[in-house]
Amino acid sequence: MLRTIKTDWNILADFQTLETPFPRPERIYPGLDTIDPATFPDFLDEIGLVGMGGSGFQTSEKIKANIGSHTLVINGIECEPGISIDKSVLLNDSLWVAAGATACAQAVGASKVILAVQHNPDLVTELNKLYGEFEVLTFSDKYPAGAEKLILKKLIGKWPAPGARPHKFGFLIQNVVSLRAVGRALVDGIPVVERPLTLAMPSTGFYQNIIAPVGISVQELLEIYKLPYDPAIHIISDSGTMMGKEVPASAPIEKTTLSILILKRDDVFRNERPCTRCGACNTACPLGLHPFTLTERIRKNKTEGPAFKAQMTECFLCGVCSAACPSGIPLVQSLEKGKACL
Ligand code: SF4
Ligand code: SF4
Repeated sequence: MLRTIKTDWNILADFQTLETPFPRPERIYPGLDTIDPATFPDFLDEIGLVGMGGSGFQTSEKIKANIGSHTLVINGIECEPGISIDKSVLLNDSLWVAAGATACAQAVGASKVILAVQHNPDLVTELNKLYGEFEVLTFSDKYPAGAEKLILKKLIGKWPAPGARPHKFGFLIQNVVSLRAVGRALVDGIPVVERPLTLAMPSTGFYQNIIAPVGISVQELLEIYKLPYDPAIHIISDSGTMMGKEVPASAPIEKTTLSILILKRDDVFRNERPCTRCGACNTACPLGLHPFTLTERIRKNKTEGPAFKAQMTECFLCGVCSAACPSGIPLVQSLEKGKACL
């Protein structure tokens, strides 16, 4: 987590365009006119689709596990500070998103599609125009409202049991950028070779949503956009300030890269002080977990026991506890280690 203490992301416009300076990829497949549930997962593997909301899980496996779902939910609720790529994709690439959503719904047998977005009346008006056949459902704009568990809670009206997946309740929740990729392959015959992402350097006022080729380095992107990155002054945050990580300029753009944010080193909160037992991390956790207790157990290597494992299974590493900690303790990094013990 790279919590920033000076960047005012609120100055950024809600409705960004989506542009690319790169040539259009070549058509590789003829496209698909009809969806055969038996072969559709193979098609997803062939185009190289993984969860582009950041999970990186193989989408074909998710589709197979969700056969019989009654509703497909398009997850367009992004709420990490500084990232607006989901909204741009929804507004600018509705043809592909709608095609991808319709195909995935058909593949699992879902008769209904819900478009889940942050509450914003202007956005909802636009989406109703673009996606007339889908129901638009609004959620909080407070991070981490887009987490699958929190979406499911609103859909079923209660907290799902620990470990319960959406398909248990008949819902398939799919990130909007993944669905765009499905639509791109179906309509234009183009596999997953491009990645829509937010590219921003707040200290220069630069903020754009773009489409980059998968595999290009961050350095190449910075040169194309003439961004004055200096490793002595800046850090590069890959995929957000809450769940993202610092990467070098040589790092590639991956299918799961949500954003590249060039932040001033001085703006990133790093001063770690001893824990004061204030409890702010516990209060902040959207799942009601006890991050401080969990990290203590991880530190002492006491990672056995059903209570610990149940809490660690639930934790989705959102980083809210770290952001709330007045002592700057990187709780989420410890929790990542705890996940590895499961
Ligand atoms: S990262 Fe922290 S706030 Fe987020 S779910 Fe895990 S314990 Fe809770
Ligand atoms: S918020 Fe930070 S200081 Fe407070 S209890 Fe949690 S870890 Fe300790």
